[in-house]
Parts: sequence; structure tokens; C-alpha cells
Amino acid sequence: MRIRVGHLYPEYLNIYADRGNIAVLTRRAALRGHELEVRPVSIGESLDPTAHDLLYIGGGQDREQGLIAPDLAAKGEAIHSAQDRGVAMLAVCGGYQLLGRGYRGRDGSWMSGVGLFAHETVAGDVRMIGDVLLECELEPDRKRRLAGFENHAGRTVLDAGAEPLGRVVHGFGNDGASGFEGCRLGRTIGTYLHGPLLPRNPWLADWLLSQALAHATGGGPPELDPLPDELELEAFRVAAERARSRGGRR
Ligand code: GLN
Repeated sequence: MRIRVGHLYPEYLNIYADRGNIAVLTRRAALRGHELEVRPVSIGESLDPTAHDLLYIGGGQDREQGLIAPDLAAKGEAIHSAQDRGVAMLAVCGGYQLLGRGYRGRDGSWMSGVGLFAHETVAGDVRMIGDVLLECELEPDRKRRLAGFENHAGRTVLDAGAEPLGRVVHGFGNDGASGFEGCRLGRTIGTYLHGPLLPRNPWLADWLLSQALAHATGGGPPELDPLPDELELEAFRVAAERARSRGGRR
């Protein structure tokens, strides 16, 4: 199959190994005989909600977020429509913040988001930086762990009833207080975890590929053939151990 990926603002939101995340998806798809076709979608370009099986939006500093926020808000309707149609999405950090209702940055300015996630973000005085370990349950009774690195000033507060991506085992998460990290809406995942995210969490890479394939075929998410993943799991173990021994530090 061909899996069509729309990469939003790659030249602005790219500071946390976002290209590495895409490279992991490309490689893991190819090892199963699928071709990932990645198209950049940037400022001034229209977003066709029927043109992609997976949308990716990465992280950036407040300045870059401010540059793309008006354009992203203008693409809001297309993003909602893509989500309704079952397009898979991954939003990391700055992109995650702007898929919510909006983000008040360090200088106090308000950036409107697209309102896909039921959350709002306000920058605090102290950045939340460190290794993170999460426990996720994307499918009932299937608990899996994610390890990553977070570095954000924004405190993201989920509305009551919004589903977090996971519960913080070690680290700060959305706001350093709720115990929640990220947000999940159907096939859309938002998270502060980068550092990079997918190389050391291969199950999440495969989950996204499988959801994207479900969109491409119109069927259910297929089981993907397992891959050896020794190095990936070792990378996970190292990151998880760092989160355990160090945790998030202000
Ligand atoms: N600029 C945002 C913040 O500091 C997002 C940073 C990021 O993408 N890590 O909260």
C-alpha cells in the first residue's frame, strides 16, 4: 500500500527530531512492504482533508509557533474534517499545543489553535525539562509504556472528559500537576514527548502506521508483522531508566 503522509510546516516545526520520527515511519512501513509518501504542507498551501492517511505536526519554539499559528488556524476546518474521516495524526509539543484551543506564550500573546483537542495551554515561568515515562492504554486492557524527553514552558490543561495519551509514571507531563500527559482523540495523538519519540517507542510507530493503513483501506487497523526491534527496545530501556532515576527536573 501507499501511505500518504502530510507533514505540516516541516521548515518551521522541526526542532525535536521530527524528521527522525518520519524516517522511522518510512522504514517500518517499507519493512512491511508499504511505501510512505511524505508531502510537506506549509504556509499558504491548502490542506485537502482527503489527500492524506496520516498528518504530522512537530515541535517549535514560541517564535516559530507564532509564525505558523494564523495559517494553521485557517486550516482548522480541513484538520477537523480529516479527523472525522479517520485520518491518523501525530502532533508533538508545539504542534500539540496548537491543536488545542490555543497557547498563551511566554510574552503573553495568545495564539489561537484549531480546537481539535479539548485543551488550553499557558506558558509558565519555569520550563519543564527531563526524561518522561508514561503508561498508556490506547486499547482497553492493553497497557503499554512510552519513554521520551520533554522540554516545554507551556502548561496544558485538558477539559474534563478529554482523554490523555497516558498517565505520567516519571516526569512532568501536560502541566506538572494533573498526572496526565498528551491527549488522544480517536486516531489522533498529541504529546510533549520527543527526543525523539518513535525510534524508542516502536509500538507507537506501528500503532500510527496501522491506523493510517486503516484509513487508506477503509477497513480496520491491520496487525503488522513484528520486527526484531532489539536496538529500539534497548533505547526504550535506557530512556525509561533515565526517567526512573532522574525524572523531570525544574
Ligand atoms: N514553545 C512551546 C513551549 O515552550 C513548545 C516548545 C516545544 O515545542 N517543545 O511550551
